[in-house]
Amino acid sequence: MNYYSLNHNAPNVKFSEAVIRGLAPDKGLYFPEAITPLSKDFIENIESYSHEEIAFEAVRQFAGDELSEAELKRIVAETVSFDFPLVQVEPNVYSLELFHGPTLAFKDVGARFMARCLGAFSKFDEKKVTVLVATSGDTGGAVADGFLGVPGVDVVILYPSKKVSDIQEKQLTTLGQNISALEVEGTFDDCQRMVKTAFLDEELTSVLNLTSANSINVARWLPQMFYYFFAYRQLRDKSKKLVVSVPSGNFGNICAGMVAKKLGLPIDLFVASTNANKVVTEYLQTGNYSPKASVQTISNAMDVGDPSNFVRIEQLHNKDFDLLKSSLLSFSYTDDETREAIRLVHKDTGYTLEPHGAVGYLGLKAALREAPEMQGVFLETAHPCKFIDVVERTLKEKVIIPAKLESLLLKEKVSILIKNDYQQLKEYLLKKG
Ligand SMILES: *Cc1c(COP(=O)(O)O)cnc(C)c1O
Repeated sequence: MNYYSLNHNAPNVKFSEAVIRGLAPDKGLYFPEAITPLSKDFIENIESYSHEEIAFEAVRQFAGDELSEAELKRIVAETVSFDFPLVQVEPNVYSLELFHGPTLAFKDVGARFMARCLGAFSKFDEKKVTVLVATSGDTGGAVADGFLGVPGVDVVILYPSKKVSDIQEKQLTTLGQNISALEVEGTFDDCQRMVKTAFLDEELTSVLNLTSANSINVARWLPQMFYYFFAYRQLRDKSKKLVVSVPSGNFGNICAGMVAKKLGLPIDLFVASTNANKVVTEYLQTGNYSPKASVQTISNAMDVGDPSNFVRIEQLHNKDFDLLKSSLLSFSYTDDETREAIRLVHKDTGYTLEPHGAVGYLGLKAALREAPEMQGVFLETAHPCKFIDVVERTLKEKVIIPAKLESLLLKEKVSILIKNDYQQLKEYLLKKG
């Protein structure tokens, strides 16, 4: 499988190069040259396959022939080695719980898959790969855990000092080995700016193999399509039409779901559920795409003012606005509406949502009002304990912290404090390389 740049001004590359580069040299996102549907037989008999088998079938054409079948099977098996339960919340409404991975966030799957692919490809490269990532919280933890101990790959994480939760900070700073955490005296935007400067710094990139680990990377983006197959596999009634609601920020997850649909998975409608950061919601209403600076909300992993994966969604719909409108709805919710949903669902059903899942739930309910003949799945993308302050304050009840996180809180933090100063980052990286 080859990948081309959506800016159309860079050579086509193989999967390995797309993974190592992250972004094409013309700054475009990589996109697969073809998407070939899976056999009808496979979809119809999906219940007879394991998660590993489904994930392998779904992703094999995208990985091409650079990894042996055995190697890709091993990577996929290690990627999906935990549960993805579909839980009924109300009649016709199901939650696909994507928080049973090691860092209790859905980004675990993408991070684990990408880490293992990079590990496999860096074997052929004498230069080490350095993954540089800025995090406002969740991404960093999933990346750190996913890449821990992968040979040939170093990970450097930048996070804003005193602006991530205790649990999140411990997830970034206690692993050791090939993972280093730089604690920046600044904001998340400062961290992100420093990372972007580093990628553009030719003096640095001439000596270091730098790559990023966010969902622009095809190896982090594509494996998210597994979730949609796993949801469908678990649905008892497969004769009913299906709508899937995805709490969206950078739109990588929902875009991967659309790839699953291209592969033949019967999803009739997608819902992009958003918070106050609603560029896409407005775009579908008005036809005007106008990116904005992000605003802070309680579902902060979705605080994105200019979703980087939206260009991939347009490509998947042949840049046809009407086609897109016929398969995608989008609704946006305020923090108050989100808290109210957490409260009501808990009161009526006993199910605990966290803010991102609550936004997804609200979007799903709105879609089901428009299409009552359908059944609905929303993605619950994080464990409630990762947003414990909001959930406890809203429910006036304690959230139970899973044992694996309790023990994390006892570990000692190891970080390197740096100023909001690109030169400090550069010196650090050069010394390391
Ligand atoms: C990253 C994230 C999202 C948004 O996913 P995108 O692929 O960026 O749209 C939603 N919920 C949680 C908990 C996340 O960490």
